[in-house]
Amino acid sequence: MSNPSILILPGDGIGPEVMAEVRKIISWYGDNRDLAFDVSEDLVGGAAYDAHGTPLHDDTMAKAQEVDAVLLGAVGGPKYDNLDFSVKPERGLLRLRKEMDLFANLRPAQCFDALADFSSLKKDVVAGLDIMIVRELTSGIYFGEPRGIFEEGNERVGINTQRYTESEIERVARSAFELARRRGNKVCSMEKANVMESGILWREVVQKVHDEEYADVELSHMYADAGAMQLCRWPKQFDVIVTDNLFGDLLSDAAAMLTGSLGMLPSASLGAPMANGRPKALYEPVHGSAPDIAGEGKANPIACALSFAMALRYSFDQGAEADRLEQAVEKVLADGVRTADLLGEEGVTPVSTSEMGDAIIAALNESL
Ligand code: NAD
Repeated sequence: MSNPSILILPGDGIGPEVMAEVRKIISWYGDNRDLAFDVSEDLVGGAAYDAHGTPLHDDTMAKAQEVDAVLLGAVGGPKYDNLDFSVKPERGLLRLRKEMDLFANLRPAQCFDALADFSSLKKDVVAGLDIMIVRELTSGIYFGEPRGIFEEGNERVGINTQRYTESEIERVARSAFELARRRGNKVCSMEKANVMESGILWREVVQKVHDEEYADVELSHMYADAGAMQLCRWPKQFDVIVTDNLFGDLLSDAAAMLTGSLGMLPSASLGAPMANGRPKALYEPVHGSAPDIAGEGKANPIACALSFAMALRYSFDQGAEADRLEQAVEKVLADGVRTADLLGEEGVTPVSTSEMGDAIIAALNESL
């Protein structure tokens, strides 16, 4: 049988720097865990624009559709700010998400003990936190029609439309329930059924999918505004949260910040299963291309490394190996190894991007 395949798209700014460290980790799995991957690499974002005049070449798009998982660094940067909207680096990423139909965006908010002091909340509120927000990514108010700015009488009106079909809600609900079964077996669905018809439908459909297919999973419903409060008050009450595109955008950013640094946050976007049973999948750190530190060896590669851990778990069914990588990261942090973005304690000298990568490899070696 052939090895599972990964397409690496490092992108712009710190993307190539953090991805270089992930390549070390991928090789480590081939050398030490009998888990070899067929890795190919291509351009996306500004780098693709520089080479081809487009932020995502058709050939790259075709490759992304064929591989078992895509791993992306980051796109964008000041060099490209004045480009036409149609060829901006971000369009490459949006095209990938759209054409792969990645409807479930997974954003974990996990607080490593060694970093609990970084949160703006009290240590006991966040220490040991491990929740997952599943955001619907391809429908809802960001896509619904009609939309636009129209003349109405003697003034203009701005319109966006929240629209969800039953099948769109069903598939993201299934993703959330499947995830919950691999975690704490609890799902909280958030909407505004008190004031929005789309929210009423959302609640009904999630409940129906639960009752018919996932009755073993504990399900609760919460209005999204109350959910935001509860996330700040006592986030550990949650396991998996499933919500729509708009509320998910807000709630996942808020939850992410409970845990401290942007350089620590991974994400996954999953679509429908392919012929081999694996979901279409794109893994990427939450952060951008960080032009302010690009090329300086200061970037924290952990978000990208943890994105690969998510790939191990959700695309390659290697949960134990994903645990191994997350534990290696935890150990490195517990040992006090810090990139500049994680500093705060006196007397700690920051390590470079590649030194952080090497420390993770050393911890992986120790795990054997
Ligand atoms: P950013 O995430 O790139 O940076 C915000 C701040 O966090 C900066 O100070 C940066 O130095 C720091 N930071 C981010 N990642 C870090 C890491 N791994 N290690 C250490 N520090 C890190 O956001 P921004 O500055 O708003 O955007 C910069 C560019 O990135 C823009 O062109 C934006 O469009 C693009 N962007 C891309 C994505 C993506 O590719 N998914 C996401 C967000 C922003």
